[in-house]
Amino acid sequence: MSGRIAPPSDEALTALKWAAGAGGWSEDRAEIAPHLVEWRGRWHGRTPLLLKPADTDSVSAIMKTATRHRVAIVPQGGNTGLVGGGVPDESGAEVLLSLKRMRRIRRLDVADRLIIAEAGATLAEVDEAAAEAGLRFPLEISSGGTASIGGAVATNAGGVHVMRFGSMRALVLGLEMVLADGTVVDELRRVRKDNAGLSLTPLIVGSEGTLAIVTAASLALAPRPATCATAWCALARIEDAIALLRRLETAFGMALEAVELVPEFGLKLVCRHIPGTRAPFAQPYPWHLLAEATSPHETASLSVEMEAALALAMEEGLVKDAVIAKNGREREDLWRLRHAMSEAQKKEGPSIKHDIAVPLVELPAFLKAAEEAVKRRLPGARPCPFGHLGDGNLHFNISAPAGADESAGRDFLARWEEVQRIVHDIVATHGGSFAAEHGIGRLKRGELARLANPGRLAAMRAMKRALDPLGILNPGVML
Ligand SMILES: Cc1cc2nc3c(=O)[nH]c(=O)nc-3n(C[C@H](O)[C@H](O)[C@H](O)COP(=O)(O)OP(=O)(O)OC[C@H]3O[C@@H](n4cnc5c(N)ncnc54)[C@H](O)[C@@H]3O)c2cc1C
Repeated sequence: MSGRIAPPSDEALTALKWAAGAGGWSEDRAEIAPHLVEWRGRWHGRTPLLLKPADTDSVSAIMKTATRHRVAIVPQGGNTGLVGGGVPDESGAEVLLSLKRMRRIRRLDVADRLIIAEAGATLAEVDEAAAEAGLRFPLEISSGGTASIGGAVATNAGGVHVMRFGSMRALVLGLEMVLADGTVVDELRRVRKDNAGLSLTPLIVGSEGTLAIVTAASLALAPRPATCATAWCALARIEDAIALLRRLETAFGMALEAVELVPEFGLKLVCRHIPGTRAPFAQPYPWHLLAEATSPHETASLSVEMEAALALAMEEGLVKDAVIAKNGREREDLWRLRHAMSEAQKKEGPSIKHDIAVPLVELPAFLKAAEEAVKRRLPGARPCPFGHLGDGNLHFNISAPAGADESAGRDFLARWEEVQRIVHDIVATHGGSFAAEHGIGRLKRGELARLANPGRLAAMRAMKRALDPLGILNPGVML
């Protein structure tokens, strides 16, 4: 794994096209263009060739050819990743491998509650297939209509139900993958237990396309809920949000699926920029919490229990005000306020983003220290920490000062790395993670080298050398 990889020769490109088969490649600039821009527009890449194989054998043939000619390969799914890991770099030397044509559902077993889906299937498609059997794929992220199974595996995606179902790693029973040299490894398990030697699957989950190409996944499904109790609560202090989370966990046990945090500033942005939204309460409150419990049965008692839990919390002053959705429409309206956070921030102007997790016991102190440090360094900057309180993962985003024009916005974004270092150092002080659910990609490669334990980094490099000795899989990402 030494030296920069040279642009592919004409001979290598011809061999790759041959390996991808008829309809398995494109040089059409218009077709390739959307694959070269990252979702936030922060990374723009170049590639001489887009490969789009239709099956695992073609991916294997491509990787054998890439190894023979030492060609860099960047795997891509839905291209919704937020750390620049799925787009080639600007050198024009990296070949893009899209898994989008591989989207078959190979198997659905109701008795075993599992589904085997190809890497290019979207999270929504997998959930739809499960729904036909009365089941559900419980990994829910706002980008699920576009994000792929392969991408979710490669990033170990999280989302709003991690507190109940875990991240992608907890849902993957096994993978089919193609190694850098073209070897196909089939670990598509249909059983929950398999201690027959070392497994590659847990290592590949979260490897961001740097160790293997995921071609299919065997995934655990869950029963589909018949009833939801969804509440929006107003709170005065972050400590109260944490106390309420624990209170609801005690009340609902495993039925509590999501507890999401929104600050007043974030709610204001949503109501300002997203048509058809409105705040649940007439007066402002510092914090808001969206909580949802579900049941596989048709029952009215869930909402009654939610009402009772919140009434008690209000009596004690923990909750200042609360609403409970009375029907599906009201539930959607409440979730929209949460799901539209990213879109609303984008419309408000530039923002510097962090994807952090800290132990909940540290969260109030972390927020205080991080907000003070950011405001000291960037006067007028507007922190907007929101996200998955249930598992301690917040998107500590910072909007540019109000009214910043284009040039002020550019200056603000130029401070990204400086601010990121400050925030990540505070995260480290509080025992947290600077990359909770989006991964490292190109965005946090420097931070990984700076902050990861040296022993762990050495072990990661050793694994990379063992599985990808020529360094052809996603070379600019993670390490
Ligand atoms: C509006 C919005 C909301 C989001 N919310 C969440 C959220 O709540 N939780 C969360 O975790 N993420 C979230 N994300 C981020 C993103 O959707 C996830 O990281 C998702 O898993 C990426 O899937 P993808 O198919 O788009 O992958 P891509 O963006 O195409 O790729 C991501 C990474 O995976 C690699 N990769 C892709 N496919 C394969 C494969 N088959 N084999 C090997 N490597 C592969 C790529 O090389 C890249 O490094 C959000 C994104 C957006 C735009």
